[in-house]
Amino acid sequence: MDRMMNLKALWASRGDWFNSAGQEQNIKDYIALSNQLVRKRQASMAAAAILAAMYFDALSIFALYLVVALTEVLDLKLAREAQDWDGTDSAFGERILKRIVINTVISALAISVFIMNIAIQQTPQGHFTPLFFLFSASIFAAMYNSQMMGVLILRLSIYGFAFLFIAFLDVLRFRPPLGSHIWLEFFTIIFVLYFIGDIAAKFYLNYQERLRQMDLIKEENERSKAALEAKSRFLATVSHELRTPLTSIIGAVDLIKSGKIGSLPDTVGPVMEIASRNGYRLAALIEDLLDMQKVEAGEMVFHFRPTDANDLLSEAVDSISGYASKLGVHVTSQLCSEACLISGDRARLIQVLSNILSNALKFSIEGGSVTARVEHVGHHIRISIQDDGPGIPEGVKDRVFGKFTQVDSSDIRKVGGTGLGLYISKQIVESHNARLDYVSELGVGTTFYLDFDPLRDEEGSDQNLTALPETV
Ligand code: ADP
Repeated sequence: MDRMMNLKALWASRGDWFNSAGQEQNIKDYIALSNQLVRKRQASMAAAAILAAMYFDALSIFALYLVVALTEVLDLKLAREAQDWDGTDSAFGERILKRIVINTVISALAISVFIMNIAIQQTPQGHFTPLFFLFSASIFAAMYNSQMMGVLILRLSIYGFAFLFIAFLDVLRFRPPLGSHIWLEFFTIIFVLYFIGDIAAKFYLNYQERLRQMDLIKEENERSKAALEAKSRFLATVSHELRTPLTSIIGAVDLIKSGKIGSLPDTVGPVMEIASRNGYRLAALIEDLLDMQKVEAGEMVFHFRPTDANDLLSEAVDSISGYASKLGVHVTSQLCSEACLISGDRARLIQVLSNILSNALKFSIEGGSVTARVEHVGHHIRISIQDDGPGIPEGVKDRVFGKFTQVDSSDIRKVGGTGLGLYISKQIVESHNARLDYVSELGVGTTFYLDFDPLRDEEGSDQNLTALPETV
C-alpha cells in the first residue's frame, strides 16, 4: 500500500521531470553530486571488471569497461562546463539538461552492455553475478540520481531492459518448463524490478521533501530578518523620540536642583536628586539602545586617529573619579613609560573604558581598589582594569558579553544595569581589530583587558593623521 502511494505521488509530479525551468537547484545538485561520485562509481565498476575478467573473456570485459570509463569522462566534462552556471541563463540550462539526458543514455547503455556480456557468457546455472552488478548499479542510481526524476527513470528503464534481457535469455535459450529454476529466476527478477522502482520513488520523494523544507527555512529566515529590521527601526525611532524630551526634563530638574530659579524647601531637594539620578539612568539606557541599534545595523561611525593609550586611560579614569569617591573605591593608574600609540576612535574607546571602569567600581565593595594599566604584552598594547570584586564564575562569557544579559539576573541582584554595556563595548573594540576579554577568579577579582596592535612610528606621524580612514 505504502509502495503504491510512493509511485502515485511520483506520477503526480511527472510534469517537472524533463522541464529545466524551475529545476536549477536540481540540475546543480545532480551535477555536483555526480562529480563527487565519479571515483566511487569508477572504483566499483573497475572492481566488477577485474572480478569478471578472472572468470569470463577478459578481452571483451575490459573493452566494454573502457567504454563505461569513457562515458564518465563525458560526465566530468559536462560537470566542468556547468559548474559556473548560476541558473539565470535558461537556454544554457536547457543545453545542460539535454546533455545530461544524452550522457545518461550512453552511460546506462554502456553499463548494461558490459553486464549483459557477462550474462551471455554464462552457462544456465543462474546469473547471480550480472544480476547483482545490475542491482547495485540500479540502487546506486536510485540513491544518488534522485534530484532529476526524468533522468533517473531513463537510466532505470535501460537497466530494466537489461534485467529483462537477462531474465529472458535462458527462457529463450532453453525453453524450460514453468517449474524449472530458470522461471523462478525470471519471476524473482520481475519482483526485484518492482522493488527498485519503489526505492527510486522513495528517494525522489525524500529529495523533494528536503527541497520543500529548504524553501520553508529560507522563507522563515526572510521573515525573521524583516521582523528584526522592523524591531530595530522601531527601537531607534522610540529611543530618538524619548531622547529629546528627556534631555529637557533632565535640564529642567538640574536647574531646579541648582537653586538658580529659586531656593527649594528642604523636603524637595532629595526628591529632585532622585528625579535627576533616574533621568540620567534613563538617558544612559537610551544611549545604549541607540548604540546597540547602530552596531547591529553596521552604522556606527568611527573616526580612527593615532591615539596614545595612556591619554585614553587617564581621561576615562578622570571621568569616573567622582563615582569612585562616592563608592569609596580607590582607583590607581599605572601608565606606560613611553607613548603607546594605537589607531582608534578616542570618544568610542573612552566610552568602552568608562563602562569597564564603572563595572569594576560597581562590583567592588567600599574600600576596595581598582587598578587601571597600560602596558606592552607580547606584540600588543594592553589596557587593563583590575578589580578585587566578587569575580565572575566560569562558563558565563556569553552572558557577560551578551545583550541584555547579566551574570546574576535574579530579582535580588544588588547591582543595577542594562546588560548592554559590554555587548556594545565588544563590538566597538572588535571594530578596532582589537580584542576585549577578561580573566576572573571568584572571590579574588576580575581583570578586563583590551589588546591593540601598536601603531608604528611612521603610521602615527603628523602627515599620516589625515590619511587615516573614517570608517562606518
Ligand atoms: P551591566 O549594565 O549589567 O553592567 P554589562 O554588559 O556592562 O552590563 O555587564 C554584563 C554583566 O557582566 C554584568 O551584569 C555582570 O554580571 C558582569 N560583570 C561585568 N563586569 C564585572 C566585574 N568587574 N565584576 C563582576 N562581574 C562583572
